[in-house]
Order: sequence, then C-alpha cells, then structure tokens
Amino acid sequence: MTLSLSSQHYDIIIVGGGVNGTGIAADAASRGLKVLLCEQNDLASATSSKSSKLIHGGLRYLEHYEFSLVRKALSEREVLLKKAPHIIHPLKFIMPHQAHLRPAWIIRLGLFLYDNLAKRTTLSASSGVRFDQLSPLKPDITKGFTYADCWVDDSRLTILNAVAAKQDGATVLNYCKCTHVCQQQDKWQLTLTPVTGKSFTVTANALVNAAGPWVSSLFSSIDNYQAPQQIRLVKGSHIVVPKIHAGDDAYILQNPDGRIVFVLPYEQKYSLIGTTDVDYFGAPNDASISQQEIDYLIAISNRYFKHQISENDIVSTYAGVRPLLNDESVDAQKVTRDYTLEQNWQHPTLPLISAFGGKITTYRKLAEAVVDALQPRFPGMGACATKHQPLPGGDFVSRADLLKQLQIKYSFVQLSVLKRYVSTYGTCSYLFLADCNKLEDLGQDFGHGLYQREVDYLSQHEWATSADDILWRRTKLGLTLTPTQKNVLDSYMSGNNKIAKVAEMVGSL
Ligand SMILES: Cc1cc2nc3c(=O)[nH]c(=O)nc-3n(C[C@H](O)[C@H](O)[C@H](O)COP(=O)(O)OP(=O)(O)OC[C@H]3O[C@@H](n4cnc5c(N)ncnc54)[C@H](O)[C@@H]3O)c2cc1C
Repeated sequence: MTLSLSSQHYDIIIVGGGVNGTGIAADAASRGLKVLLCEQNDLASATSSKSSKLIHGGLRYLEHYEFSLVRKALSEREVLLKKAPHIIHPLKFIMPHQAHLRPAWIIRLGLFLYDNLAKRTTLSASSGVRFDQLSPLKPDITKGFTYADCWVDDSRLTILNAVAAKQDGATVLNYCKCTHVCQQQDKWQLTLTPVTGKSFTVTANALVNAAGPWVSSLFSSIDNYQAPQQIRLVKGSHIVVPKIHAGDDAYILQNPDGRIVFVLPYEQKYSLIGTTDVDYFGAPNDASISQQEIDYLIAISNRYFKHQISENDIVSTYAGVRPLLNDESVDAQKVTRDYTLEQNWQHPTLPLISAFGGKITTYRKLAEAVVDALQPRFPGMGACATKHQPLPGGDFVSRADLLKQLQIKYSFVQLSVLKRYVSTYGTCSYLFLADCNKLEDLGQDFGHGLYQREVDYLSQHEWATSADDILWRRTKLGLTLTPTQKNVLDSYMSGNNKIAKVAEMVGSL
C-alpha cells in the first residue's frame, strides 16, 4: 500500500530519532496526539547508540554538586527497569579504592547520598568489599566499594520508544531529513527530504527540536529563528576487547586526572571500556576515537587489571558526541549533564520546543516535560502515562521465566539464541517465532543465530533498511558476524530494497 504523507497535518512533528525524540513521540502519541517523527539517518544512529549504556544516577556528578540531576536519574532507574526488563538489568559496580586519588570518607559520603537520594526497591545498597587472590585486579588493590546501577541497550531503548509511538498511531520516518521549516499562518510547515526520493512538505501545530548534537544548527533551517542556546560538543569514546575478567560485575576505575573509566561486561564475550571527555569541533557524524584516547583507555585498564591488554586486542571502537549545554565550564567533564528545554512561542499558538543536553537515563522525564509544556496548545490532551507503561516486549516479570517458556515452545532453537531474543525483544520474540515448528521455519541463517524471520521482523516492524541497521542498532551482532556473513545480509537487505520502499512511501508525491 502506498501511503501519501505529503500535505498531511499533525499535532506535533519531532525532528530527531535519538532517545529523546522517540521518547517524546511515545509520550505524545500515548496522550492521543497525532505525531510525526523524522530522523535524517537511522533511528539511534547518533549519540543514542554511542553511550556507555548505563541507566545511572552518575556517582561522579555528585562531585560537581549536580544533586538534582542525580536524584532525578536515580529514581528513573527503578521506573525504567520495570518498563523494559528485557533491555535493562541491574549491574553491580566495583570501585577499587585508591586512597591517594579520593579519600575513603569522600567515597562513603558519595555512596551514602547515592543510596538515599531516591527511593530504591530493586537495586541493592552500597557496601565495602575486600579482594582476595582470585580478584581480577592487581594484588596491591585489596579493598574497594560496591554499588548498583543498571545496564541498558541504548539503541534498542530508542527504537522501542519509536515502536511504542507507532503502536499509538505515530508516523516514524527514518532516513528522512528535515531540510526547511517556515510558518504558514498558524501552522509550522516542514520540508522533509528522504535519502532517496523527492522532498515533500507536512504541517503541524507544534514543532519539537530533538536533534541532539544538531539542536542549535537545526535553527539555521527555520525561517526567522535563532538558536536560543549554543551547545558544547564533548566527544566520548569506547573500546571493545575480549572480556578481561570473569563474572558479570562492572568496574569503575579512578584515574589520576580525576576522570573515571568504566569496564563493563558486554555481549557475553567482551569488555566495553570507556569513556573519555574531549571537546569536539567537527561534524557530529564524523566523530571517531583518537590514538590518544585508545592509549588512555588501555593504560587505565592495565593500571588496575592483572589481565593486560594492548591495541591488538581491540575488536571494535565507537565514539559519540554529548550535546551538552554550554555552561562555560573550563573542563569538559565538568559541563552539566542535565537538560534544558527552550520554548519559543513567537506566535501565541505556534510552539517550538528544543531539548538541549540530557542523558539516556532521563529521556522519559525529558519527554514528559516537553509534552507537558505543550498542554496550553493541546488543552484536551491526557496526562503522562509512560511511567507505568511497559515498552514493547517488556510486559513480563522474570527473564528466567520468559526464557523457560520460549525453551519449551521453541526447543529447536539454540539456548544462546533464545537468550539473545529475551534480552533484545522480550515477549515480542513471539511475534516472529509465531507458527515456527522447526529450525527450517526460521528461514535463511545469516550466521550466529540471525535468521531470516528476525531480519524480516526488523524490516517490517522496526524500520531496518540495511545490514548496518540490523547489526549495530537493532542487535549487536556486528561484533560477531564475519565480513562474508555481513555481505550476505547486505545483499539480502538490498534485495528487499528497504530504503527504496521508504522513498516509495513518501515519493509518489
Ligand atoms: C560517550 C557517551 C557516553 C554516554 N553515556 C551515557 C550513559 O551511560 N548513560 C546515560 O544516561 N547517558 C549517556 N550519554 C548521554 C546520552 O547518550 C545522550 O544524552 C542521548 O543519547 C542524547 O539523545 P538525543 O536524542 O538528544 O540525541 P541523538 O541520539 O544524537 O539524536 C538526535 C538525532 O537527531 C537527528 N537529526 C539531527 N538533525 C536532523 C534533521 N535536520 N532532520 C532529521 N533528523 C535530524 C540525528 O541524526 C540524530 O539521530 C552518553 C553520551 C556519550 C557521547
């Protein structure tokens, strides 16, 4: 079916398909508004797939007196754990004690605040810990602290919010850039340009700028508007190496420069090590890790762990840019991680709201604040309901029980693959496994348990158009598939000609 989007009118158009944009779309659509979201590349292709993947209060922000941000973020941990138990899980952190870097009383005070600034029900409280000879840390490190935060699959969080928005009637377009915005009497008119296909226009009563690192530059496409704030781009990079320690705990390492670096268990077989904090002046999409950052991350890991790593161990790297509010801090790591909403109501009934800064952890609160701010324009709109609504696939209580049920019903699928389905799709696994009675029913095997059923599901329900969309943002199988397997998937996806279908959808205009 060809759907003509040209000249359609919406209550809200959101520019930007990162976690903030899709979170706003999900919130607004669930309150009954007619929503369109456009993303110039793939959903979550920018900052929202390049994070450290933590739902956390941010222990180190306490040092910068960001108490309100830490409280807000801490209380979101429990909310998000319940909303998305498939892609979010508790993670125990171990902090080796280094008395010359931070005295124990400062750390105890910080952890006391961390434990008590917000209500905790699932996550355990902090405590002291002693290391014996079985510890993966060097023998001179004998004591430390533990506390709990959460792990999140950041790009899936973004995409699942888009799916939730779609389920409530929103239109989501990836690979479709907003290239021009103007006012047409009492409406916003946006020109949208798909990667392939002709530009077209749509109109809306309200416009939300959730363009992340592009939030200020988007204003150059809006007639007669100037960016109310400038952002400071701060690059953060990670390296992925074969797992450097046994067990499922994460480590938080203090560096003599005052920074901290995480060593996180990643995709069963790997350790994710990051991040850095470097001012960045290039195009957001071009950010990549520098040699200096590689050396820095390897050096801190080797300073703490018995297992020594070198550059040859690196299997993957990624770098993202934090779109932070320019609060004129001298030091990049001291710039506030909180968000600010800028509201422009130059025309009394024509709002433009821009989201500056923010964290994955606080995306839901940011979305709620944006949609609440639009209340005067949409007085009949309902109240925010996202706090208690599970994200798609998150309507279950125990991962272990869900896995058991899948094992019973689909015993012919490898256990490791079923485990991946649980932590990627939750109960949505049933949608693409439905009526499969034997392995062959899953179709072509692209390698490492990626079957055609899953690929087709991602194309049809999660806007995947290319092998990269599947391997890096909807799954993390890009880490394990061989170049030949990736080529096979590439050809399959081009055969499906997904981008052309998007173009077709909007292009008959
Ligand atoms: C290294 C690093 C580590 C981090 N770690 C954590 C962490 O562990 N926990 C945490 O809570 N937070 C973390 N963060 C912060 C978090 O990742 C960001 O705050 C969040 O992802 C920002 O989301 P966003 O939607 O605002 O931006 P983005 O994800 O960048 O999305 C903005 C989107 O807008 C699109 N866009 C721009 N212009 C246009 C246009 N004209 N038309 C259409 N689309 C457009 C872009 O393509 C982009 O996809 C980290 C950030 C970095 C960089």
